Amino acid sequence: MAITTERRDGAAHEPVARRRMYIDGAWADAAKGGTFEDSDPFTGETVAVVPAGTREDARRAIDAAHGALHAWWKTPPSEKRRLLLKAADILERRQQEIVKILAAETGATFGWAMFQSGFTPGLLREAAGQVSSVTGEILPADLPGAFFMATRQPAGVVAGIAPWNAPLILSLRAVALPLAYGNTVVLKPSAETPVAGGLLYAEIFDEAGFPKGVFNVITNAPGHSAEIGDEFIENPKVRRVSFTGSTEAGRAIAEKAGRHLKRVALELSGYNPLIVLRDADVDYAVNAACFGTFLHQGQICMSARNLIVERPIADTFVTKLVAKTKTLGVGDPRIPTTVIGPLINKQQLNKVRDSVEDAVKKGAKVLVGGNVEGPCFQPTLLTDVKNDMRIDHEECFGPVAIVTVVDSPGEAVRVANDTRYGLSAGIITRNFDQALDMAERLETGMVHINDQPVHDEPQAPFGGVKDSGFGRMGGRAALEEFTELRWITVQREPRQFPF
Ligand code: NAD
Repeated sequence: MAITTERRDGAAHEPVARRRMYIDGAWADAAKGGTFEDSDPFTGETVAVVPAGTREDARRAIDAAHGALHAWWKTPPSEKRRLLLKAADILERRQQEIVKILAAETGATFGWAMFQSGFTPGLLREAAGQVSSVTGEILPADLPGAFFMATRQPAGVVAGIAPWNAPLILSLRAVALPLAYGNTVVLKPSAETPVAGGLLYAEIFDEAGFPKGVFNVITNAPGHSAEIGDEFIENPKVRRVSFTGSTEAGRAIAEKAGRHLKRVALELSGYNPLIVLRDADVDYAVNAACFGTFLHQGQICMSARNLIVERPIADTFVTKLVAKTKTLGVGDPRIPTTVIGPLINKQQLNKVRDSVEDAVKKGAKVLVGGNVEGPCFQPTLLTDVKNDMRIDHEECFGPVAIVTVVDSPGEAVRVANDTRYGLSAGIITRNFDQALDMAERLETGMVHINDQPVHDEPQAPFGGVKDSGFGRMGGRAALEEFTELRWITVQREPRQFPF
């Protein structure tokens, strides 16, 4: 079907791709036939027309995944490994095309898109390396003649819910290791990124030759996520929900999941400190702070939000960071020199602007930036932030950080921990003993010494504490999340029963 759309300037636009969901190894429209437009955050143009799936579609996808479960569980590890490695190769082969999709669908700059597309084949290869890790142990038994085993097996159907900000990585994170452990998966990407966060993977897993039903993708129109989430939680065939997104949505899911006694893994929002101690190499600290704050225009759960600097170097650090921030290119993510692309949509842009305005109205000082620039927000640093300002305690998902000056490492830890979130942290210092001591006291899931908070590798136990969620989705830690540990016994000689 040819679909024409209008550009913001009113000119006719090329017909856009009509996409379909992927259920039971086949391309599918929504059961009710609805569609929605997936748009480019910089140009406003329609990138794709996508099925507006509903609960009925989610149920179909769950049935397909459930039907495929036993055969996939029993598929030899060597075959699972072959398929995962093949998918990795396809992903790598399509890298340049994927970089364009990420720019069009999410406003990702070249660097951010290359990072995601470089990371994800490694995630599939890490999963391929773990296909033989679903093992158990033999336990000693008190009972005479008894043989005890602790066995591990797939949890069952895993439902993955992913956000838009790093769709290539975060959707795959909900899928790759669960598949390696023998689970089958239904993935629901964000309505902002149905292609890069879902349908693209359907193409890749289809081409790799995964059996039908093992991997399914359903898409939904904006504002209709909760009904799909409800099906994931209420349908007894789903045994795990893997959620990455905001604390607000994660809390709603966890509350419902509690009622249904369904296990969830939650990777949620962050308010991440970057601590710069007085002995730091200031130029290195400035580069780290700039990268950690402004990569993907601050739309990363791990972005540095609070730059906590020891007083003796604060002035030099701030002067140099402001100067560097002024050099960052703002605008079209397709231009290679752009560092700050658009925010994902108008609501998000307004939210960031309101948060900065609220702080300024209440007395915060703008060191640099502070304004909207088309669909972008200027890279911004604020100081003199007080706790009656929203930005002091709410995650501002944009290119904005606050600067806080402290007098000691102990005060830095106290300031860093003064938040309901606990995802990631960075400490820049040459004193590793002190940094390790501080790392132990920081209330976050992850701490990076001599680095900034934005960091991930496929083998790492990624995850947060406090309102940043619970569960670990990477490396060997994912085995705990997405398998069941069971106790199986064999009574090899008759027991003596007391009656
Ligand atoms: P979001 O919570 O709005 O949406 C995330 C996903 O959940 C989307 O697929 C959305 O459609 C779905 N969703 C929303 N409400 C739902 C509901 N009630 N039931 C079921 N599904 C629901 O988050 P977002 O705006 O897409 O992403 C940005 C947020 O995600 C930020 O707060 C960021 O910090 C966080 N995040 C966390 C991590 C992490 O690993 N900790 C990674 C990336 C993003």
